[in-house]
Formats: sequence, structure tokens, C-alpha cells
Amino acid sequence: KKDVPYDTSIHRSKDEKSSSNKLPTEADVVVIGAGSVGCSTAYHLAKLGGGKVILLEKSRITSGTTWHTAGILWSFRSTESETIMQLQTRELISKILPEETGEDAGWLSTGTLNTAKTKDQLKNFLKHASFASALGVDIFELMPNDISKLHPLLNTKDLYGAVYSPQCGTIDPATYCMSYVKAGAKYGLKTIENCSVNKINVESDYLGLKRVASVETDLGTIKTSNIVNCAGAWAPYIGKTINEYVPQLVFKHCYVVTEPIEGILGTPIIKDHGTIYMKPQGNAIQFGGYEFNPILEPNVSTNFAFGLYDMDWDLFSVHSESAVNRIPAVEKTGIHSTVNGPESFTADGHPNMGESPTTRGYFHGSAFNSGGIMGGGAGRQLAHWVIHGKPEINLANSYDHKQHETDHYCNEVEKDCTFEFAEKSHKLVGDECRTCRNSVAVFDSSYMGKLYISGKDADETVTKLLTRDITNTENQFVYSLMLNKDAGIECDVVATKMNGKSGGNEYYITVPTAAAQHCRFHIQKLIQDHTLHSSVQDRTEETSILSVQGPK
Ligand SMILES: Cc1cc2nc3c(=O)[nH]c(=O)nc-3n(C[C@H](O)[C@H](O)[C@H](O)COP(=O)(O)OP(=O)(O)OC[C@H]3O[C@@H](n4cnc5c(N)ncnc54)[C@H](O)[C@@H]3O)c2cc1C
Repeated sequence: KKDVPYDTSIHRSKDEKSSSNKLPTEADVVVIGAGSVGCSTAYHLAKLGGGKVILLEKSRITSGTTWHTAGILWSFRSTESETIMQLQTRELISKILPEETGEDAGWLSTGTLNTAKTKDQLKNFLKHASFASALGVDIFELMPNDISKLHPLLNTKDLYGAVYSPQCGTIDPATYCMSYVKAGAKYGLKTIENCSVNKINVESDYLGLKRVASVETDLGTIKTSNIVNCAGAWAPYIGKTINEYVPQLVFKHCYVVTEPIEGILGTPIIKDHGTIYMKPQGNAIQFGGYEFNPILEPNVSTNFAFGLYDMDWDLFSVHSESAVNRIPAVEKTGIHSTVNGPESFTADGHPNMGESPTTRGYFHGSAFNSGGIMGGGAGRQLAHWVIHGKPEINLANSYDHKQHETDHYCNEVEKDCTFEFAEKSHKLVGDECRTCRNSVAVFDSSYMGKLYISGKDADETVTKLLTRDITNTENQFVYSLMLNKDAGIECDVVATKMNGKSGGNEYYITVPTAAAQHCRFHIQKLIQDHTLHSSVQDRTEETSILSVQGPK
């Protein structure tokens, strides 16, 4: 059956003014896409001082992926930053939004159980959960007997244990998103539906660097210097209008809802062995999971709104088997409805968040890898990023650095000795360490990021950038810290002064590889913000580094 377990229309009161079609001509920030992420981003921007904020939606609020989400908010994810964003979301939906709107924001606290089949897996869950625990979330380690008491319908024979978190639960997507729009309206947020963004326009500054200038929509043009691309699966289409690559792919993701199962009401949500999730939906179960061979949707239609795909039952059968194994009652229960929708994923599993390294004022906010309900916290971080130039928490791994295209180097190393500390490598590694400590060793440090700063204002640029004065460092490399305007540390670097090709001063700065793109962008912003006449170039690929170290 293809009925959907949710009502697709959002119930609005007659006097609701949040969604008006009159398009303003100017804005401080335009947020594109009114799903879980865009609604929260726009609300936080309006609330935290982002000025005149406009949220544009090509169809209706939630009509992309959010409307049919399973809506589960877990207590922890594999990175600390994502765990924080989940917890911020929980606070928003269970406390802040109801207080601000005077209405329920769609939160249902059910508790979550992460079941583990092995001791190692339980250890791994506990490791990730310990961070949530440090932030005040109740986390309990359960053995099979305790699990059965908590959830009598569960088969625990093949389980080693579970991590239980009573404070987690689910959201109702429509109520959740409307709460942001309603609460945001009180801070001046203007939300416009049925208004597609068709193009971003950019202009060049005095250095020829790109900056957002306006957005063109179905209803006219809005002059703005900041946009946040929260268009979910459609984000790459918007990026393409200014040649901004959005690194994400769309896969079909599905779940089914069973007919009623006696005894399921009020039981916790289960993540079984990290593969399938099983959520009580009233007196039925909703279950779905992640395949090793998911179906790619390379050209998700731009007209797609409140849409779903047909189920691929062959592909889904692996989840049915797992569901029957974990809750045997599922085997004798029919399927009431199915949901199969588009979801965006990234290669490294982190969302695309933050300012584009090539276009000032263009912010990414897409591809949440089936965790987009953390959009509450993610929206708060994006709003901070737009307003203050950086998020509140460390999201350094959100916008990925350039990866090597081949792993030839790794293959070569494997022939000699592996990176793993296998027994046969111990003596080799020991000899290397002793040689370096007592004599001399040469390291190939070519993996470092290599940045060059040159131009008339190169001296002033490095003086503003680094804690140490490096304007007299010819023939020596010095260690220094690269700071931001709040005196926070952006990176630690090794730098020197050189004679530039054109005869002027040039500075050479080495930074950790993973931070090269981030540092280059940080320096470029500093140059732009102080209207300096200098430039920064990333020559990582062109230059090698040999590092000679040791007392001799
Ligand atoms: C079946 C399924 C179950 C899921 N279950 C969970 C879960 O339990 N927990 C969880 O955390 N996550 C879950 N997810 C993932 C989660 O639902 C998504 O990550 C999240 O909804 C994405 O929100 P978003 O705001 O990024 O995108 P969307 O909700 O897709 O919002 C993007 C919006 O942008 C609009 N738009 C696109 N182009 C334009 C344009 N040019 N101009 C204006 N507007 C535009 C679209 O119409 C859309 O409304 C699930 C996903 C699926 C498919």
C-alpha cells in the first residue's frame, strides 16, 4: 500500500500571517528551503540578530524530505558536534519553542535503545554515549534481562547488551517546522512559500573575489549579501547557478508502518545493531534501515513536492528479516503503509555546513545523512556562522578538505610496512624513533598544506594574522598561532619570510593538510575585511617538503 502515515497539509489558523507572497526587494539574509534545517536556520537568524531574514520555499513548508521523516531524535551520534546539535534540537522542541509559541512543538519522548550483539559494539556505543552523558543526558547500560523488562516484545537471545536513553524521542515534522516559522515571525522572520529560487547572482570585489549580490526568484529579485542553501536534495541545483560544487548524493531511503501490534504502545525506539530502526507509531511499528547497496537518485526532479517513490521490496527484504528477528510479532503482522523518499548523503558522513571557500556570503546547510532532525541545532550553528563568522561549536570537519584521488601512496607503503602496529613493524618503528632522537632523520612532510601570502600589504596581512612577528624571519622557520578576531585559535602554523618572485615580500606558511582550505579562506577573509592589497595562494600540490630532524 502507498498511503502515507502523515497528513501532508499543515494546519494553519485563519489569522496566521507567517506565509505571505509579497516579496521584499532587500534582505540581510535569504534562507532557501523550508525543511527541518532551513526553518531552524531562519528562526535563529531572526532571533539572534541576523537583521532582515527571509525564508523562501519553492512549494509548501516541509514539502521536500522533512514531511515524511521518521522523525527520530537519537541521544548521540558518532561525532561530538552532531551530538551537541541533537541535544540543542531536543531543547528547542521540548522547551524553547513551546515557551515562545505557547503551543506544543510536536515532541514525543519515548526513550531509545541501541542494541548491541557483541561486547565490542556495546563498548563503541558507550564511547559515543559518554559524551552525551557528560552533557547531562541519562545513559544506561542494560544487559539482556533488563532489556526484556523494558521491552517485553524484543528477542534478546542474540544480544550482548544495549544502551538506553530515556530522554530521546520523535518529532512531528509539520508541527515542528511550523513552530519555527511562528516563533520566528515574532522576531521579524518573513516566510514565503511557492517561491522558487532560480539563480544566485554574485559580484566581484576589489580583489576580483566573488560575493553574493542577490537571488532571483519566481516572484522577483531580492538584493542580499548572504544566502543559506538549505534546499536539501535540491541544494546542488542552486550551487550550480554560481558553479559552487555541493558534495552530496541523493539516495532513496524507506521505511514501512505495520498494522497494530499488541503491546507495542509506549515502548522505546530501537536501533538494532546499528542497522535498522524500529519506532512505535501509536500501536504499530515503523521500521526501516540502511542498505549496503542503496538506490541512487541522480536527478531528483525540481518539481518534486510531497512526493514519494515506489518501494523496492527485494532491497527492503533485508530489513524485514532483521525486524522479524528483533520483534518476532512483526512476522504475523501486515504492512499498513510505506514511505520511500529522497535523502542526501555525503562521502564522509558529515553534513555540508558553513561558508563557501570561494564565494563570500554563500553558506551551505544540506546533506544531513539521515539525521536532518538535528536541523534544530544545525540551524542555530548556521545562524551563528552567518552573524559571527563562525559557529558556536567546532564544526571543522563539516566542509571536507580535498581528498587524494588515488591511494597509490598507501599501496606503496603497504608493500613495505603497514600503518597498523603489526608485530613485524615494531622493530622498524623503534629503530626510526631512536635514530631521530639520537642522530638525524629525514621526514617527507609533503602532506602539509602550503600557503603563500604576497602583495603590497603582505607584511600587514601576516602581522594581523599571526601572534608572532614574522616580518624579520628570513632564513628561519618560526612557530606561531593564527588567530581570529575573537582571539580564538584558527590553526597553529610554521612560517617564514621569503623574497617574492616579483621582488616584494612573500610569506610561506605551512598548515596541517586537513586545515589548508579552511586557513586559506580565513586569510582571504581577513584580507577582504581590512581591504588589504595582498593575496593568498594554496600551492600544496606544487611543493614538496623534506624535514631534517635530530641532534646531529
Ligand atoms: C524515509 C526517511 C526517514 C528519515 N528518518 C529520519 C529520522 O528518523 N531522523 C532523522 O534525523 N532524519 C531522518 N531522515 C532524514 C531527514 O528527514 C532529513 O535529513 C531532513 O528532513 C532534511 O531536511 P532539510 O531541511 O535538509 O531538507 P528538506 O526537508 O528536503 O527541505 C529542503 C526544502 O528546500 C526546498 N527547495 C528546494 N529547492 C528550492 C528552491 N530552488 N527554492 C526554494 N526552495 C527550494 C524544498 O522544497 C524543501 O522543502 C529520514 C529521511 C527519510 C527519507
